[in-house]
Amino acid sequence: MKVFIACLGTETNTFVPFPTGRRNFESFGVRHGDVTKSPRNLFSAPLHVWRERAEARGWDVVESLFAFAQPAGITVRSVYEEYRDEILSDLRQAMPVDVVLISMHGAMVADGYDDCEGDLLARARAIVGPNAAVGGELDLHCHLTTAMIDNATALVTFKEYPHVDTAERAGELFAVCADAAEGRTRPVMALHDCRMVGMYRTPIQPMRGFVDRMTALEGKDGILSVSLGHGFPWGDVVEVGTQMLVIADGDAAKARALAEKLGDELFVMRDATLVKYWTAAEAANRGATEDAAKPLVMADTADNAGGGSPSDSTFVMAELIARGTKGALVGLVWDPIAFQIAEEAGEGATLDMRIGGKCGPISGDPLDLRVTVKKIAYDCRQTFGANRERTGDLVWLRDEAHDLDIVVNTLRTQLFHPDAYAPLGIDPTRFRVLVVKSSQHFYAGFAPIAREVIYVTTKGGIEPDFANIPFTKRTTPFWPKVDDPFAGTNRR
Ligand SMILES: [Zn+2]
Repeated sequence: MKVFIACLGTETNTFVPFPTGRRNFESFGVRHGDVTKSPRNLFSAPLHVWRERAEARGWDVVESLFAFAQPAGITVRSVYEEYRDEILSDLRQAMPVDVVLISMHGAMVADGYDDCEGDLLARARAIVGPNAAVGGELDLHCHLTTAMIDNATALVTFKEYPHVDTAERAGELFAVCADAAEGRTRPVMALHDCRMVGMYRTPIQPMRGFVDRMTALEGKDGILSVSLGHGFPWGDVVEVGTQMLVIADGDAAKARALAEKLGDELFVMRDATLVKYWTAAEAANRGATEDAAKPLVMADTADNAGGGSPSDSTFVMAELIARGTKGALVGLVWDPIAFQIAEEAGEGATLDMRIGGKCGPISGDPLDLRVTVKKIAYDCRQTFGANRERTGDLVWLRDEAHDLDIVVNTLRTQLFHPDAYAPLGIDPTRFRVLVVKSSQHFYAGFAPIAREVIYVTTKGGIEPDFANIPFTKRTTPFWPKVDDPFAGTNRR
């Protein structure tokens, strides 16, 4: 048996004004066939797992491209085509191949390609023919499309948000595809459109129980795999939204019936999946008046780089200052210009600086503050699950007048873990308020040190106002834009 492995992905926010180009991919380390020789990260971890599983069976492994970009705007066409064609060229040379496994995000949009994953899978299928097993592992914030289903043998999405199960899901996909390649099973996939657009946090109920029920259904009664594609709400594509995916062994009707049953179950509990969002003013007021031994963690959800936001918005910081909230630490604020100025001034310098607010209306107005350069650190990392993710160069700035500390970085990324601050010698537990620019991935690391976690919404690249995202391509109705998007169908 011969297994071909590769990674190409990003999550495209079609509404933000900065494109995804070569530099974005390269800043995360493009590798041409040897990413499994490096420590694993969120999207290379599957390749490590697939190589280990295949080699344990004595199978041959051909490793191709690894290319992943921080979520941003529409991908430059020539960049997508070049990376795609490198994978396809490697695949042609590797033939005959029995199993193709690709780590993708599943919400990549390039100029001219609304469904990059469907395009890549279709071209890969054309090369390997109908009998090879073609599998894709996807972030649950993916668009699941007809082209993807038609051309893959099996698709498996992460089940957990925060995404702590990347490696586990890679193992699941390997098992399904290996069994198919060896003729033990005949996977058939069914997709059910839940007609929902939203974000669903899996550590908390009712989603926790739903994910556990999905897992419990797998591996028995002919059900091979169950995935919920939460969807990525800020992608203007036809298939945007939440979809239930079931893989059964040879029984399409069974797969469809279970996908519909689980989809209905999720739909019924849709209101209970909503989390409370605070406005920045409400959050700042609370931060100003409460005092406790442990920090109040405010998730600055709309400015999460992991959803394609700039990570330099000032809405929350401005409210903290306006409401007199003392003892707050804000990070990571992406501002390479501010970093450069601070670096030039040097540690210990106090100077007037313009911070954040550099990417248009979604960033808010820049803040002009008098700050002291407390410390600078280079080529830093933070923990995310079992992986160490890059954060670039960091500078710790302190605004004494407002009792406000800000960590600025040079590599646009969300804040995953409190240990991101370790290179600067900052102990985040000593602050009264921690503002984290992240939607949910911060949770695993920050919840244990938090008195409480609250979710804040502002304007921004991913404002969680799901009813009012200006889609132009989705034609079927969806909740919460309408109360009952199934009205008039046979599901009601
Ligand atoms: Zn995701």
